[in-house]
Amino acid sequence: MNVAMQQSTSPPTAAAESRYAAEAQNVTVEFHGHKAVDNVSLGIAKGEVCAIIGPSGSGKSTLLRTFNHLQEPTSGQILINGRPTVPGSRKPKPADLMQLRRTVGMCFQSFNLFPHLTALENIMLAQTKALGRSKDEARERGRHLLERVGLEAKANARPSQCSGGQQQRIAIARALALDPEIMLFDEPTSALDPELGAEVLAVMRELADSGMTMLVVTHEMNFAEDVAEHLVFMADGVIVEQGDPSSVLRSPQQERTQKFLRAVN
Ligand code: ADP
Ligand code: MG
Repeated sequence: MNVAMQQSTSPPTAAAESRYAAEAQNVTVEFHGHKAVDNVSLGIAKGEVCAIIGPSGSGKSTLLRTFNHLQEPTSGQILINGRPTVPGSRKPKPADLMQLRRTVGMCFQSFNLFPHLTALENIMLAQTKALGRSKDEARERGRHLLERVGLEAKANARPSQCSGGQQQRIAIARALALDPEIMLFDEPTSALDPELGAEVLAVMRELADSGMTMLVVTHEMNFAEDVAEHLVFMADGVIVEQGDPSSVLRSPQQERTQKFLRAVN
């Protein structure tokens, strides 16, 4: 074997040194014979913000959810830091899922906070349950995170005493409390008035600036253009077009993308 060939052959450790924090490889998700996600491959580089846009029903949420196995792929695989999430078998084990959900945090359109707990208690709960942190440690981390999302004054408020934007910021703080390496966001502002959505987007922008790897399904084109490094347009379960956000948004190459952008602008 000559030297050039040796160099082009991946060493066994190459997978663990992947430049992608998260990667979908040929992921298909079928519901009742319908491919909601059809053979999609997508890598999110470490520290990158990747935004996914596209019409309703195009498979954006389904794809996003495969990254932390809230949705099992029918075929294909997910890699986190170059390692398959389900090594060698189709069904992940509960312990693997626990680890995965800590590494890959998620924030949904609906905030899903516990109504009977205060903001601080909501943020403390997963830390004590999933990470085994002491209450004092969880409280300190919770207070710090509430400060980070601008809500230290709401520590003892229940969700019903907070606006939608505040609840979403609490939900982001809760996800961050588990020290995720990657954050998934599924239309985190779509249930909010523009003004409250802006508060949430500001927190997400700060998170992006801090170097968090983020995969964000959004209909906020300005956010996608300003904050994302990579933009993906999905329709009918496939990636139709992707690339630099400004290029895709301002001079889309595919007719399907052009049609979508005309409709939303
Ligand atoms: P988007 O987030 O782009 O609006 P989704 O990923 O939610 O799209 O849905 C993609 C397609 O998959 C839709 O046709 C939807 O009805 C279908 N789908 C999503 N989740 C399920 C499910 N749990 N069971 C059956 N069909 C589903
Ligand atoms: Mg969706």
